Amino acid sequence: MSTTTDPKAFDPIDPPIDINIPDNYVQHTLKSTKPLPPVTLSNFWTELNWLNVAILGITPTIALYGLFTTKLTWQTALFSVLYYYITGLGITAGYHRLWAHRSYNASLPLQYFLAIAGAGAVEGSIHWWSRGHRAHHRYTDTDLDPYGAHHGLLWSHIGWMIVNPRRRPGVADISDLRKNKVVKFQHRWYLPLILGMGFGVPTVLPGLLWGDWRGGFFFAGAARLCFVHHSTFCVNSLAHWLGEAPFDDKHTPRDHVLTALVTIGEGYHNFHHQFPMDYRNAIKWYQYDPTKWFIATCQKLGLASHLRVFPDNEVRKGQLTMQLKKLRAQQDILEWPTDSNELPVVSWESFQEQAQSRPLVLISGYIHDVSRFMDEHPGGRHLLAKNIGRDATTAFFGGVYDHSNAAHNLLAMMRVGVLHGGFQLAEDPEKYERSIPPSQKLRVYRATEMTSPWSSALSDGESHHGLAG
Ligand SMILES: [Zn+2]
Ligand SMILES: [Zn+2]
Repeated sequence: MSTTTDPKAFDPIDPPIDINIPDNYVQHTLKSTKPLPPVTLSNFWTELNWLNVAILGITPTIALYGLFTTKLTWQTALFSVLYYYITGLGITAGYHRLWAHRSYNASLPLQYFLAIAGAGAVEGSIHWWSRGHRAHHRYTDTDLDPYGAHHGLLWSHIGWMIVNPRRRPGVADISDLRKNKVVKFQHRWYLPLILGMGFGVPTVLPGLLWGDWRGGFFFAGAARLCFVHHSTFCVNSLAHWLGEAPFDDKHTPRDHVLTALVTIGEGYHNFHHQFPMDYRNAIKWYQYDPTKWFIATCQKLGLASHLRVFPDNEVRKGQLTMQLKKLRAQQDILEWPTDSNELPVVSWESFQEQAQSRPLVLISGYIHDVSRFMDEHPGGRHLLAKNIGRDATTAFFGGVYDHSNAAHNLLAMMRVGVLHGGFQLAEDPEKYERSIPPSQKLRVYRATEMTSPWSSALSDGESHHGLAG
C-alpha cells in the first residue's frame, strides 16, 4: 500500500496506462479506429480463433463421450460438484471480485488458493481476464467493451472468444496486478497450472481415493470444466439480458435469481455494475450469492479483510430512483385535471351569469361544471342544485359532508375556470392545501420540469466558504 500523501502521486516505474488518457478518449477512439469487418457466413472460417474453438469445442465433446461410456459413481458425482464450486469460486471470488474489482484484501494463502483454483476453470490468466473485465465495466455497451451485450446474446456468451476480436478493448489499467506476485506466478506457470488443475487433479484424486480414474477425467475434469465455462459466460450474456434493473436502467446489466443460480451468485449484475467494488452481488440475506458467503467466511477465518461495502444510503437512492421512474410512467398514463394556468380566469359576475345557463359550482377557487354529475351525486341531485352559482367550499369540506379523496379527485376533473381573486390561496396554507386534489399532493416531477433552485445560486457566483469537509 502506498504511504504517500500526495494525491497526484503514482508509481514512476510502472505508471497507470491511462494516466495521459485524452478527455474524449471513448468518442475519439470509436471514430478514429476502424473495426474489422463484421463476421458473416462467408468470412466466418477465416476469422475463427482456433485455440479457443479447440478448448470450447473439444471439452464438451470429451464430456459427452464420457457420459455415454462411463459409469458415474456417487463419489465422483459429489466430487465433480464440489470441484465445480472450487474452480468456479477461483473465478468469482478470485479473478472477478478480488483481482478485477479489488473488493476486498486477501491474505497470501487465500490468493494462492484462488489463483490455483481459478486456473482449473481454464479461462485465461488473472492478468488477461481482469484486463478484459475492467474494460467491460468501463465501456459497458460500447464497442470498446470486449464482450459488449449490444452485439447480442450469442456474441456476449461465446462469440467474442471464438472469432478474432473486431477491435481492441478500450484501455484499462492493471498496473496494480502487474505488481502482484501471485498474479505474476500464475501468469508464468499458466500452462502447467491449467493442465494440472483442469484435468490432472480431478483425474488423480478420484483415481487414488476411490479408484475412479476414468470417471474423474470425464466427469470432474471435462464435464465440470464445461459447466464452469458456461457458468462464467452467463455473467456476460444472461446477466446482461434477463431480469430487472432495480438500481439503474441506463445500461444492459440485469438482476435475476436464475442467473445467480448458474453463476455461483453473480446474477445480481444490475447491482454489480452500479457498485462494482462492493464485495457483494446480492444485498439481501435470502438472495443466492455463495461467492459473498465464501468471502465473508474467509474474513471470519482471518484470511480476508477490508471487505468493501457501498454506503447503504446511496444504494437505496438508486432503488428509489428506479421506483420513482416506474411511478412516473404510471402517472403519465392517467388523466389529470386541467392546470390552473390553462383555465380561463372568470369574474364573480361572469360566474353568476354563466351559472344561469349551466350548473357551475365554486369550490376552493375553482369553478366546476357539474352537469354530467348531477344525477350521479351520491348525496342527491338537490344538494348540487342548491349550490349552483355559490361557493360550496365549506359545505364540500365537512360543512355538509366531509368528502372522500376520491370525490375530491373526481371534482377536480370538472374544473372549467378559476375565479378572479378567488385563487390567492397560497397565502393561506390550509386553503391552498384544499385546492389540491389528494391524488396530486404527492407527484413525481422531473428536475427539468421544476424551476431550478440552482440557477440563481450558480449565477450569484461561487461560495466564499469553499467545500465542506
Ligand atoms: Zn457485466
Ligand atoms: Zn465485474
